[in-house]
Amino acid sequence: MKKIMIFCIPAHGHTNPILPVAQELVSRGDAVKFYSFDEFREKIERTGAEFVSCDRFLAKLSRQEEENIKNVNTTEMSIQDIRITINLSEFLDSEFNSFQPDVVYSDSACFWGKLSAWKHNIPLVVSTSTFAFNQMSSQYMKNSSKEVSSLLFGLPRVQKEFRRLREYGYEAKSFLSLVQSDNATDSVVYTSKRFQPYAESFSDRYAFVGPSVFSVKQPQKQARPLVYISLGTVINERPDFYLNCIEALKNESVDVVISCGKAVDISTLGVLPDNVKVYPYVDQLDILAKTSVFITHCGMNSVSESLYMATPMVLFPQTNEQQAVARRVTEIGAGTLLKDDSAAGIRTAVTEILSSKSYAEAAEQCCADFRSCSGAKGAADHIENAPNPSDGKDVIRELNKAVVTEQILYNVISVILASILFRFVRASYLWIYIAAVILLSAPIKNVFQEAHYKKLTTR
Ligand code: UDP
Repeated sequence: MKKIMIFCIPAHGHTNPILPVAQELVSRGDAVKFYSFDEFREKIERTGAEFVSCDRFLAKLSRQEEENIKNVNTTEMSIQDIRITINLSEFLDSEFNSFQPDVVYSDSACFWGKLSAWKHNIPLVVSTSTFAFNQMSSQYMKNSSKEVSSLLFGLPRVQKEFRRLREYGYEAKSFLSLVQSDNATDSVVYTSKRFQPYAESFSDRYAFVGPSVFSVKQPQKQARPLVYISLGTVINERPDFYLNCIEALKNESVDVVISCGKAVDISTLGVLPDNVKVYPYVDQLDILAKTSVFITHCGMNSVSESLYMATPMVLFPQTNEQQAVARRVTEIGAGTLLKDDSAAGIRTAVTEILSSKSYAEAAEQCCADFRSCSGAKGAADHIENAPNPSDGKDVIRELNKAVVTEQILYNVISVILASILFRFVRASYLWIYIAAVILLSAPIKNVFQEAHYKKLTTR
């Protein structure tokens, strides 16, 4: 029997995949304490784990901070994560001392779980409810210039909060080490190796266990196609979008179910056509088993659940992380991007999925792949065995060594070119050249990384 502490941030998308794992650990006789928030108490207690409420340690938010969190602003979320860690520190110190856990299982975005494990020197396993992101796979996330500037301007604030952690005995090499996946840390990822971008760049400390779901249902599609629409549980207050969906599909030979979230007043959507039903929340897996087209915001859980139920998708990503997931779905051919969210655009995208078999076939292949993964049992094995043995192979380390020569060459050529240019153009124009050198360095590095990755992983 192992004593296991589980930590998660207050978000359904991060909590849901941990639940079947917690239930599996409990069924094996492990003592499991799940540190979470009252909103999730009921579903956590259903797993048999001991629920520990952390609501009183949540920081009081100003209206602006609340708005930022609602819009998934990375700077704000990091700052609040650090504040909660500090608020929890005394309580968690006493919990660690009294419970004496063997393992900590912490969500990847939950700083207090990871930092407490390091502080108390307990083996840590990270629960990753998105793709695992390292320097290779994060190329799938395209940050807009607005997001990049918000990150850059927010960094000093984050660093200031980050430095406070030391006063409470928390140590992390850098802020990046707190947020990025690294090859020396045991991690569970709720997708397959086939679906994870650049899967070979992750070490054997990673367990790709496939979607973690309770349902054992098989897909069973309706004769009259069912279109299911959901923008998830976070950024879902979009009555305008739901109205466009209703307009798009009201005269089509399909049934429609919309999960609009708890913030939307359903009466504002007007009199619903006979073929459309709208709910604040549904049993998503149950609906997906019958669904022929899922219009989704591309949250990792929603997409995984959709593929688990062999359902092709119309992809409507809202954040850069969701864009990464959408890109992967299009690569495997199980969905099409919604480029135009007007009623006409939605109708065209749904018709495309329904009229071409290839989308459903790609989703069926992914369904078979996901169902062959080890699931909650594989995750529980990885947690119970932590720290897991490793052959020490680290593709990222080898990759970084390999690109050093090219980087030096790029810098040397840039300096030589600058000295030549300096003779022919006015010095005041030189900054344009310097800016170009800086801006191009990342994409050029990516090209070399990609080439080395292929070489290293096809050996
Ligand atoms: N979900 C659900 N019913 C709903 C809407 C969402 O059960 O009506 C669940 C869904 O099955 C998934 C989670 O909420 O497990 C949403 O997670 P996801 O990562 O897709 O998106 P997020 O809500 O984090 O943006």
